[in-house]
Amino acid sequence: MRLCPVCRTELRRERVRETAIDGCAGCGGVWLDKAELQSLANGQMDLWIAARKFSRKTPAAPAVAERLCPSCGIRLEPFEYASLSGIELDRCIGCGGIWADGGELEEIDRRLA
Ligand SMILES: [Zn+2]
Ligand SMILES: [Zn+2]
Repeated sequence: MRLCPVCRTELRRERVRETAIDGCAGCGGVWLDKAELQSLANGQMDLWIAARKFSRKTPAAPAVAERLCPSCGIRLEPFEYASLSGIELDRCIGCGGIWADGGELEEIDRRLA
């Protein structure tokens, strides 16, 4: 079972055609691998449609002391993606996965618009 690093809810998987994405229905965050982040930044539509299913109106994710990787359970580290500077994502150095909060997704969306 994969748990949300922010609110510890079980992550759900959304599929759009060939694309699947894991995210949290509780806080609106999504769990990405590096290729998926790249695809999001490139505006890949199916990925955005899937990601938006998790997206919530809440502007900020709840603050938690420690964010743990849903796959390996180690602590996530702040990560700034080159083409999205100023948006602080969280990365797992174990598996390379990346967590984007619900509010961060909307921010990426605004940037690309
Ligand atoms: Zn959550
Ligand atoms: Zn990991």
